[in-house]
Amino acid sequence: MPLVEREQWAQVMSRRLAKRAARARPSDERLLKSAQRLNQKHFAGALRFTSIGFADMERLWGSCTFTDGAIRIARRAAPLPEWVLDYLVMHELAHLVHSDHGPEFHEVENRYPLTERAKGYLLALDAMV
Ligand SMILES: [Zn+2]
Repeated sequence: MPLVEREQWAQVMSRRLAKRAARARPSDERLLKSAQRLNQKHFAGALRFTSIGFADMERLWGSCTFTDGAIRIARRAAPLPEWVLDYLVMHELAHLVHSDHGPEFHEVENRYPLTERAKGYLLALDAMV
């Protein structure tokens, strides 16, 4: 491969890798603010998370890696109303306390007063697709 071509290829590849890295560790100002606010309000600021941001997800609305505290919210949730987005963040924050969906988890999740409403909203939305 000629040098020029090789350099171009290297550029394309590094751009792709940067994009992939951004996707793997997405960071989004809006989600971070929401998480910080909810953490203060419902956990007395006690939770520790390493990253939060939007990511491409087909089926789930969000995910949380319990071990390293990385929270991801589905990119398709970005246009949802603020209070529904807050619920999604709250759900993932609650996973930093309990990794499963047991009764103790729901107790934590329900500290967010619009939890039941937001769940209904998302159920209805999922039913439409
Ligand atoms: Zn969950």
